Amino acid sequence: MTQKESCIFCEIIAGKEKAWKLFEDDKCIVILDAFPINEGHVIIMPKQHVKDIFEIDEPTFLHICKIARWIASETKTVLKAEYVNMVTASSIIPHAFMHIIPRYDYDLMGLLPDMENKRKMSNEEMETTYKKIRGALDGFRKKNKRKTS
Ligand SMILES: [Zn+2]
Repeated sequence: MTQKESCIFCEIIAGKEKAWKLFEDDKCIVILDAFPINEGHVIIMPKQHVKDIFEIDEPTFLHICKIARWIASETKTVLKAEYVNMVTASSIIPHAFMHIIPRYDYDLMGLLPDMENKRKMSNEEMETTYKKIRGALDGFRKKNKRKTS
């Protein structure tokens, strides 16, 4: 089995694994993190299978940064977050991605998120969060005619 065949993110990108997909275009995909550390914790990844951010080609990385900032901005507004962290971290998943983590004054995690501190969110909570963020992104795209799926 090649690395790509055993990669959960490639399975999600191919539509073979379920995920709360918030956005995708030809270069990247954005989903809710299945094990969030805060409400609205999402991850963004290139569609191309590369093992970490250092292997992403520069135009794709810049594109991902641009989309990440947009997602972070819309998420911050719709979830009334105090701030949003955008971080890369080491992972057991061999596919590059970046965390986008809304921060709230009550989360008591300090300047940077505590990546080990997963929150238990029910399916209903995940769906509610998904609908809020998706609604904000769709609203933005309608208003600004962002050409993406
Ligand atoms: Zn992959």
